[in-house]
Amino acid sequence: MADRIMMKNPIAEIDGDEMTRVLWALVKEKLLLPFVDLKTEYYDLGLKNRDDTDDAVTSESAKAIQRLGVGVKCATITSNAARQKEHSLRHLHPSSNATIRAILDGTVFRKPIQVSCIKPSVSTWKKPIVIGRHAYGDVYKNTEMFIPGPGRVELVYTAQDGTEKRAVVADMKGSGVVQGMHNLDESIRSFARSCFLYAIGEKLPVWFASKDTISKTYDGRFKELFNQVYETEFKEQCEGAGVTYFYTLIDDAVARVVKSEGGFLWACKNYDGDVMSDMIASAAGSLAMMTSVLVSPSGAVEYEAAHGTVQQHYYRWQKGEKTSTNPTALIFAWSGALAKRAELDNTPALASFAASLEKATLTAIEEGDMTGDLLRLADPKPPRALDSWEFTDAIAKRLREYI
Ligand code: NAP
Ligand code: MG
Repeated sequence: MADRIMMKNPIAEIDGDEMTRVLWALVKEKLLLPFVDLKTEYYDLGLKNRDDTDDAVTSESAKAIQRLGVGVKCATITSNAARQKEHSLRHLHPSSNATIRAILDGTVFRKPIQVSCIKPSVSTWKKPIVIGRHAYGDVYKNTEMFIPGPGRVELVYTAQDGTEKRAVVADMKGSGVVQGMHNLDESIRSFARSCFLYAIGEKLPVWFASKDTISKTYDGRFKELFNQVYETEFKEQCEGAGVTYFYTLIDDAVARVVKSEGGFLWACKNYDGDVMSDMIASAAGSLAMMTSVLVSPSGAVEYEAAHGTVQQHYYRWQKGEKTSTNPTALIFAWSGALAKRAELDNTPALASFAASLEKATLTAIEEGDMTGDLLRLADPKPPRALDSWEFTDAIAKRLREYI
């Protein structure tokens, strides 16, 4: 096709598993390739290829995002014993997202995609709540041990010169469990920086919360460094942009969030962000109506869907059913990545395509062309749900009108 939009530089394209892999191909076929001369470096993170490459492909894909500056990722299976049996895997590997986040560091920002026909279940929320999830360390990079019987558990730090620091975790009276986790000052600082930069860009107040009353050293360090980054690097810029910064305890934050009007960035530690982003997404409608972007301190960004591979729909698709799986989050992952590429390369035609793709998707839903997950929540309710193929056709039809 002669008049397709050209790209200057490629993005890292990271394919995945199950139903989202099916939708990935569908989105490319119907919504991208007819309009854009797509330039990507392709990495197949399907479970089989990860196993065949001893997971090397996952680290390679993360390095490609670092090198190219922009990546877009499909959902991937996190292998466990059941998946090992199902797919005859040679090995169990860590979650691809955890591996990629450990390489890129940084913060994941998740924001509900709002449409007029779906009201959040929290009636006071007028504006989206954006979650900024720290993506390094804590329980996601922990070491755990089963303790078989009575004895002492200690933390030992050995400095490079050989000196030691010790602390007793517990004098165990019987069998039990123990866990060690860590974070790095530099990662916490870059988490804070990513949050302030994002908030200034979007003109959103920043809330940060932890449990420093109980965890005085660990969470206390998060509170101290977040404050320090604000005071020494961002205070003036924030005040200039009308962006406020507010720290509170995590339980107080949860109570305030539910009573709020929304419209702020909620900076969360890794685990809090995992849990709270699913809460925000479900309350805002559906996991398929959430954007997710990982911003690394190097400036590299990875766009993804916040949901999983939609396993049960995939089994039904394998039996020949045209499922009504919602590709909106995958479409927004692509539009986000293409818009970022356009910004870095200064290619306005590509930027305008990305905006049209989002508009076509939202308009389709608002005009009553939607998948089953949204039909359940929509008001007014259209007569029937579209399957994923009809839904992408409905978007493509509008997209052609806009271009
Ligand atoms: P899931 O794929 O998020 O799906 C859970 C349920 O949420 C689905 O059964 C479906 O509900 C609904 N749902 C999620 N996305 C939807 C969409 N786009 N359209 C319509 N409905 C949607 O979670 P899961 O089934 O627990 O996990 C499946 C696999 O995904 C696991 O192997 C897990 O490791 C992996 N995972 C990957 C990522 C990632 O790579 N980012 C994240 C989470 C999980 P109904 O059945 O009611 O329709
Ligand atoms: Mg989660």
